Amino acid sequence: MTQTKGKKPLIVMKFGGTSVGNAERMKSVAELVAGYAKEMEVVVVVSAMGGVTDILIRAANQAAKGDRENSKAVRQELARKHRAVADQLLNPAEQEKVLPQLATQLGDFENLCAGFSLVREVTPRAMDTLSSLGELMSATLEAGILRSLGIPAEAVDATELIVTDEQFGNATPIFAETEAKTRQRLAPMRKKGAIPVVTGFRGATREGLCTTLGRGGSDYSGTIIGAALDADEVWIWTDVDGVMSADPRLVPKARIIPEVSYREAIELSFFGAKVLHPKTILPVMKKKIPVWIKNSFNPSCPGTKIVPAPSDRTPGVKAITSVSNAELLTLSGKDSLSFPRLATRVFNGLHLEDVTTLMATQSSADNVLCFAIHSADLPKVRARLERTFELEMLHEYVGGIEVMSKIAIIVALGENMKGTAGLAGRAFSALGRKGINIIAIAQGSSELSISFAVKSTDVKEAVKAIHDEFQL
Ligand code: ASP
Ligand code: MG
Repeated sequence: MTQTKGKKPLIVMKFGGTSVGNAERMKSVAELVAGYAKEMEVVVVVSAMGGVTDILIRAANQAAKGDRENSKAVRQELARKHRAVADQLLNPAEQEKVLPQLATQLGDFENLCAGFSLVREVTPRAMDTLSSLGELMSATLEAGILRSLGIPAEAVDATELIVTDEQFGNATPIFAETEAKTRQRLAPMRKKGAIPVVTGFRGATREGLCTTLGRGGSDYSGTIIGAALDADEVWIWTDVDGVMSADPRLVPKARIIPEVSYREAIELSFFGAKVLHPKTILPVMKKKIPVWIKNSFNPSCPGTKIVPAPSDRTPGVKAITSVSNAELLTLSGKDSLSFPRLATRVFNGLHLEDVTTLMATQSSADNVLCFAIHSADLPKVRARLERTFELEMLHEYVGGIEVMSKIAIIVALGENMKGTAGLAGRAFSALGRKGINIIAIAQGSSELSISFAVKSTDVKEAVKAIHDEFQL
């Protein structure tokens, strides 16, 4: 750990929903933090208690259908869940302080839902205020738990720290302003040695309107705050031991990878492996702050360290990730419709539907564009492309949209694949020996990863074959 001499290292620790899932979990979080706070300066970021965000979003949508009763029952459910923690872990003085705050937050919940049911709609902006109430409640509680253990701590609403654009539901931080605000707001606490317990997921526009950073966004909050404070490290506490070499449900022999690079982590988070929010690494890249993935259920396990560049230069594949429910779409244009024109309109359509592609390839002669998407996105993508190319299809400038369903996309990745001849050959030979047919292939010039499509029914065998071939 790099640190200024004589000064305690500053570590931002983010705890996910399962890590603060109930009283017992919230207690062990407080004990972990209390233990580390002896040797380091800790800033805590918390998710909502597990399941709470889903409950809030469901209640909002139900209210928007005009249901005026449901939110009362949900309020009670949320009150019970949070009350149980307060009853078990807060001392009487803290109960007196924290319970009224929880009551206010629950009141906000019910009032907002009442509003939605009256106007029969919930706008993205209103949804953000409501869906992130879980973080306000968990931060309020966790700070109270720490204080009940005799550790000075203060809950902080991240709307006072993180300044974002106005993309409600999926906001992006404005870094310079976030840095200034975060430093200023946390300085007095840090000076007097109180641990800030910051709400994950939430931010606010310049005007102070609450935004959220996208589902699972508390990881992102952790690194945003880590970067804003120039932290020595960011620790993401979750419920797995670290990043794995493959999905253990597919490959029982999969193992924890001790170290991955920023780029490998980004690739892994984009694809299947749900350990990290895809944007988590972006805020720390410039400052080269290491990020750890650690297991709050197994804190003695070191976890995975995410570093700017890999320290081990052994050529080869580092990990395999996969998406099992994908569709492969193919469009072919006739001569007069050049490939750039075809591709522009296809990808613009995907952009307008807010759909990400899993892989894409161009194959020569016929202007054939092939790309893969998540199965769940198929209906809107098909409808969009049919509208976009209505005329061309009528006049047969564009063949129909061919869809291959039940496809899996597999990605073999690793920074040290670059410049090493024969890796793709080995991977594909391993599949060939198992009789697995490869339907499409893509590799970018960064050589960070090779993606390929196989039938969904082959995914397990395929991932295992490659895992074995590279002895991961
Ligand atoms: N509570 C939010 C969610 O469930 C954010 C997070 O947990 O990271 O999406
Ligand atoms: Mg998460």
